[in-house]
Amino acid sequence: MCDCLFCKIVNGDIPSAKVYEDEKVLAFKDINPQASVHFLVIPKTHIESVDAINEDNSDIVSHIFRLIPQIAKSTGIKNGYRVITNCGPDGCQSVKHLHFHVLGGNQLSEKMA
Ligand code: 5GP
Ligand code: ZN
Repeated sequence: MCDCLFCKIVNGDIPSAKVYEDEKVLAFKDINPQASVHFLVIPKTHIESVDAINEDNSDIVSHIFRLIPQIAKSTGIKNGYRVITNCGPDGCQSVKHLHFHVLGGNQLSEKMA
């Protein structure tokens, strides 16, 4: 069994507040929101991080980015949002399964780091 938190969420072993799902992608609310609206979009297949994106698995990234505007709209975001992906130790990636944070619903900080 895969010992990855987000794989467990995909498999339904750990519950999540889903905001979107299709056969390849799951989006769910972040358990510790950093904005009025904060959800994560993940591929259902395990990809460790941006560092592990390659020619064979990169289609999922464009799929995710095509979905983000419609998921953002469906969660009530109206006036823009921020998409973030943390990679590796210096990027403070805590869950080693590729995920895109989408934050919005209020004015965000100008600071990026
Ligand atoms: P990272 O720090 O890897 O970029 O982001 C991981 C995110 O996953 C964090 O924002 C954290 O709040 C969120 N997270 C960690 N555990 C869980 C969980 O069990 N459920 C949900 N919904 N989010 C989680
Ligand atoms: Zn995983």
